Amino acid sequence: MIVTKFGGSSVADSSQFKKIKAIIEANPARRVVVVSAPGKRFSGDTKVTDYLYTLGSHLKYGVPDDRLWNAVIERYREIKESLALDIDIEAELAAYARTFGASIDQNALVSRGEYFCARLMSSYLGFTFVDAADVMRFSYDGKLDVVESEKRVRAAYEKYGKIVIPGFYGAYPNGDINLFSRGGSDITGSYLARFLGASIYENWTDVSGIRSADPRLANNPKAIARITYEELRELSYMGANVLHEDSILPVQECGIAINLLNTNDPSHPGTIITQDAGQGMPITGIAGKKGFMSFVIRKKHMSGEIGFFRKVLEIFERFHISIDHTPTGMDMFGVIVSEEQAAKHTHSIIAEIENDLGAEVTLDRDISLIAIVGRNMAGHYGICASIFQIFRDNEINVKLLAQSPDELNIIVGINGVNHAKAIGALYDGLCAAELL
Ligand code: ASP
Repeated sequence: MIVTKFGGSSVADSSQFKKIKAIIEANPARRVVVVSAPGKRFSGDTKVTDYLYTLGSHLKYGVPDDRLWNAVIERYREIKESLALDIDIEAELAAYARTFGASIDQNALVSRGEYFCARLMSSYLGFTFVDAADVMRFSYDGKLDVVESEKRVRAAYEKYGKIVIPGFYGAYPNGDINLFSRGGSDITGSYLARFLGASIYENWTDVSGIRSADPRLANNPKAIARITYEELRELSYMGANVLHEDSILPVQECGIAINLLNTNDPSHPGTIITQDAGQGMPITGIAGKKGFMSFVIRKKHMSGEIGFFRKVLEIFERFHISIDHTPTGMDMFGVIVSEEQAAKHTHSIIAEIENDLGAEVTLDRDISLIAIVGRNMAGHYGICASIFQIFRDNEINVKLLAQSPDELNIIVGINGVNHAKAIGALYDGLCAAELL
């Protein structure tokens, strides 16, 4: 049995729905379908989810704007009418709109993007609609209750055999809706594959698998045929916008492979994400992320003061800031964190480190981190030499270098202004050196 998940652009309109039907009918093992909300039909279009977030704010602050909800209705109406579906989606939408008011539950409102899409998809495919609120259950701490959810998902599948489930949301024990973070339908699909012991989790989008670098920055980067879960997690964390980061572990833990496929080109094999991706080039891919900053902490004789490092890190912990790297010198070290996470607390953190720990703090902003990732890099000498040569040839200063102990990734920190140039140059240079 295969769990399939279709992303926003794959369910954007009736012509996309037709492609999905052909895909589902091409393989009878595709019995579970998870859908996102209708996404962009063309660049510059608006996703239904984005309309709903905006609508939520309008309702909350009492600024009615019929255009937003009408735009949402129109997306579903087009699908229903073009496919001549036997479902009164207009009545369902109208009934929901009667609940609009300043106290509307924002999560519930946003979740309707997926909900109504799944209602239409179930009618079109002839699969049973299962509301995610009934099967994907959260505890009050916001974590998915995997035991309860597994029980409910299995029961629904055993009862109906072929099901369509909206992604992205579930419910607390009292029925209130809770959302995963943006792009979270990937997570729903991943848990369903796990709960049902799927042979594979197919994740359908609008690209034919993963490229070895961002195609907007690198010159025609190669497609990756096979990649390990760990490699993908490293690349996703560092900005490769492929799958929701949290959608990998649930299937990884039980060894279910993910196949990333293209709804618009279904015969392309896409990318397989698996435990054993085999031998290949040393480097699998490059990804980069802007927007990091370094708190540079200096204190005389710091290296002899046992516990100083811990005391500094505890301050970041208290502000719930996750630390990415800590490059260390003799009487100084840097704490590299995401600027977005640290923004609100920057001054308080400096104050605590300076006043309580007697150190001096300066900030180094606008750092870009670039990850060079590959399961076959371990034990392969000369990779750093090639990387440094590329930076030298392109006159880019390296501020930080870190390699994970398993040699799965090499992280280079540079000035944000050089971000695009560095990724383009690394891609070309590492290909030319036959490392990628
Ligand atoms: N529709 C939601 C979003 O736009 C969730 C998803 O598509 O996975 O983030």
